[in-house]
Amino acid sequence: MKNFLKTLIPVELAKGLLLTGKRFIQVMFSANRGKSKLHLVDEYPEVPAKVQPRFRGRLQLLKDDQGEIICVCCNACVKACPTNAIQIVPGKKEGRKTRVPASYGFEMERCVFCGFCVESCTFNAIALNHQFELAVYNREDMALGLGGVFQSIDKPSPVAKFSYSGEE
Ligand code: SF4
Ligand code: SF4
Repeated sequence: MKNFLKTLIPVELAKGLLLTGKRFIQVMFSANRGKSKLHLVDEYPEVPAKVQPRFRGRLQLLKDDQGEIICVCCNACVKACPTNAIQIVPGKKEGRKTRVPASYGFEMERCVFCGFCVESCTFNAIALNHQFELAVYNREDMALGLGGVFQSIDKPSPVAKFSYSGEE
């Protein structure tokens, strides 16, 4: 009898539909607001996506509190890179005792994001930042250096405005 009643009144099915409806309404009304704990999706690209802290994105030259590039051209990262993606031309700067890169070339299309360069740098002068939008229209834009709008290795590329979450 009990089983017969269960067949007539599909309780489990009703419970499932109720839960689905509840989640649907919560997600629908929380879209782009991120208020609900049950906000199940990232509103990317309207809201910049957050990646895990250990995410390895594009190589970036870091600066100190005075805005100076930290790199002292010791070449440890160049030697550690398995794909020869980094080339450094050392230079000098007035008032600075250590060397400073006159040019820090990074060929992104060759990078395998292994992080060996970052690990080898005892000066904490470089980081693989949180940019994951690395697509470009021209191959030349894959070659990063110290100059140009798209080729500034000391700051995030403008193409990555939706993926870059700020300072590391
Ligand atoms: S992450 Fe790896 S492949 Fe990319 S530049 Fe650094 S050492 Fe080279
Ligand atoms: S290891 Fe660090 S300090 Fe040395 S050249 Fe590379 S980025 Fe510069």
